[in-house]
Formats: sequence, C-alpha cells, structure tokens
Amino acid sequence: MEQMFGKGNETQKRKERKQERIKAKAQKKPKKPKVSKHACHPDDHIEELAVKNFQKFCRLRDAYNGGYCISCGKYLVWNDNCDGGHYIKRKNKTVKFDEDNCHAQCVSCNKWKSGNDAEYRKNLIKKIGLEKVEYLESQKGVLLKEPRKRFHFIALNEYYLKKCRDIMKGK
Ligand SMILES: [Zn+2]
Repeated sequence: MEQMFGKGNETQKRKERKQERIKAKAQKKPKKPKVSKHACHPDDHIEELAVKNFQKFCRLRDAYNGGYCISCGKYLVWNDNCDGGHYIKRKNKTVKFDEDNCHAQCVSCNKWKSGNDAEYRKNLIKKIGLEKVEYLESQKGVLLKEPRKRFHFIALNEYYLKKCRDIMKGK
C-alpha cells in the first residue's frame, strides 16, 4: 500500500509540473515582430556597409575575370590584391557613390601611394573621358544639398549587393 501511495504522489507531482510548464508557456512574452536586418546598425555602420558593397561592385565590374590597376596597370583579380579605389576621396560625399569615381586598384597604389593620383588621372581620362574626370574634380569639397539619410544607405546597400550578385551569376 505504501508503495502505491508513493506512486500516486509522484504522478500528482508530475501533473503539477506539467501544469506549471503550460502556465509558464502561456505567460511567455509574445515574439517581437521581425524587423529589417539593417535596422539594428547605427547610421555610420550602414553607410560603411553600403560603401563597402559599392566598392566590391566596382572591383567585380573591373576585375571579376581579371583586370588592371587603374593607376599602375598591374594585373589583378577582384578578390586578390585589389581595392575599390576612389579617385576623388570618399570624404567628398557627392561622388562617394559615383561609379565613375571608383575603380579596381592594386593595394599598393591605393594604400601606400595614397591613390597614385597622377597615374590614376591619366588612365581614368582614357577610360571615361576628360569631361567626366573634370566633373569629378569639380566635386571636391562640394557638400550634399541634403545629407543622406539612413534609408538612402539601406537602399544603396541593397542595390549594390544585387549588382554584385548579378555579376557573380554572370548576368
Ligand atoms: Zn597599382
């Protein structure tokens, strides 16, 4: 008889525990609604991410199947010894995301020769023409009429992510 009581108690306890679990589940906070994966990035982070993918696009455009450094002409491949080098530096916001302003460049020219600008200019004129080069140069120090907002960077980032994917898929 004692054994049976013992078992009865255990069953009762198990039932109680189950009830508690059900109660706890019911009281759980509802899940947060899904938000864009970029919503948690601070503003400067999303701008950095956008420019990173913009530069990646320029590297892919110029050197996906191999290409040449815009300044010194060294052979390079988009994901090896290759940067997306801005002609007019990135702090000049009106041309920061201008596709004419960023080209595949070897790391040595971009980082150690701070752009190797004289050679960059010569070859850029050959590539896009003097008029476009002079336009880019005219944008030095020019401020954006309205600073770009967070949603602009999110859109730019998505746009260049897609362009990168398209190149890699051979579109
Ligand atoms: Zn170079």
